[in-house]
Amino acid sequence: MLDIMSYNCPVRTGAHLWIGQGLSEVVVVACRLKCQCLQIFLHSPRQWRVKKRPDCELVSFRKALKLQGLEPLVVHMPYLINLASPEGSVVSLSLKRLALELEEAETAGATAYVLHPGSHLGCGPQAGLKRLIGNLQKISGSNVKLLLENTAGQGQSLGRFWSGFREIRQHCPQTGFCLDTAHAWAAGYNLTSSTGFQSMLAEIEKTLGLEYIFLVHANGSAAVCGSGLDRHASLDRGKIGLEVFQWLAQDKYLGKLPFIIETPKNSLSEDRRNLKLLLRVERQTEAGAKNG
Ligand SMILES: [Zn+2]
Repeated sequence: MLDIMSYNCPVRTGAHLWIGQGLSEVVVVACRLKCQCLQIFLHSPRQWRVKKRPDCELVSFRKALKLQGLEPLVVHMPYLINLASPEGSVVSLSLKRLALELEEAETAGATAYVLHPGSHLGCGPQAGLKRLIGNLQKISGSNVKLLLENTAGQGQSLGRFWSGFREIRQHCPQTGFCLDTAHAWAAGYNLTSSTGFQSMLAEIEKTLGLEYIFLVHANGSAAVCGSGLDRHASLDRGKIGLEVFQWLAQDKYLGKLPFIIETPKNSLSEDRRNLKLLLRVERQTEAGAKNG
């Protein structure tokens, strides 16, 4: 397994890319965008019925990524998966799909698999968390690291506050976490102020330990801070602003993680623009560090 932490500064940046044109096209697009890392769905994120991808396709993809120095490869779960659901049929479909995707992700050379903590669907956060932990413990035998992502807290979804992840870390010590800036902002962490940012880091440090964060989803947000609404925006066009990305890049630990954008796009030019913005912020950070 690739060590997700073994990348040196500057920050590795990449985008969530569409797979509609096939995995070989994903590599072409990643190169065109000058991505250093990338995230994909392996299948349609809104369909239960999918066909396993042939090993030869996944192995060719892995080789092409390696040839272009594109790493890490991160896979994002489909939206249907809910490990906190009180409905047995949904949980069993979720576990089946996860088993398939983790196997495929491993063959494709993925380092990490991003998972949303799920929704308790009215049974209450504590019951949902218990189910999530129990189901996470059923997943085994993969070298791909599971990363639970913090959420905006929309609807009945779990994972709004970092403090809620403490029990997961205790019961599932192999699980890591992904920090999404748009979700944290919508959840109520004020990322426009340095004190707000620092207090979120202090909460992560206290409840998990920063070393449990393995990936940053660098997104702007069109939602109001604390609204609980999951509305991604371009880095410079939302309500968060660019400073938080500088603070993240400056952080001794978080600054070494891969940063992946999941910003809205109708065409690749929007990804290109957001990646350029992110790189500019990071270069400024680097220059600042050298001068300081
Ligand atoms: Zn995300």
